[in-house]
Amino acid sequence: MAAETHELLSVERSELAAHIERIEAEGRANGSASISFGKRIGDGTSIAVERLNELAILERLTKQHRSVVRAEEKLADGSYGTCDGCLQTISTERLDALPWAIHCLTCADLEAVPGEDDPPPGSPRADGPRSATADTSSPWDIIT
Ligand SMILES: [Zn+2]
Repeated sequence: MAAETHELLSVERSELAAHIERIEAEGRANGSASISFGKRIGDGTSIAVERLNELAILERLTKQHRSVVRAEEKLADGSYGTCDGCLQTISTERLDALPWAIHCLTCADLEAVPGEDDPPPGSPRADGPRSATADTSSPWDIIT
């Protein structure tokens, strides 16, 4: 069984590496090493957006690649199936679904939330509820 997992991880790792390489090569071919947001709103913008999607995919693949590499390490040192975060056993259901899982569900959830994508918790409430409409000294107006 361990040998199968090893095989599975190694196949997954090379597939991910190939995929990552392909996206990076495409990026180079498109000549968009740096993303410039369109001076023209039109083609430039959609290309930039497309490129951003690509980067998001690339980031996801890179992250998964790291997990696979780490899972292989864990397989080698005997800690495979144990969460890297809290040292609890990762459920077999989870490992079946995600053989390169290196965190239990709880820790994976924590990892998956970088905090950057969090929407603001609500409308700004600097000084009391519902006074912003009458109050022109809202902090948001001072910017210009
Ligand atoms: Zn954990």
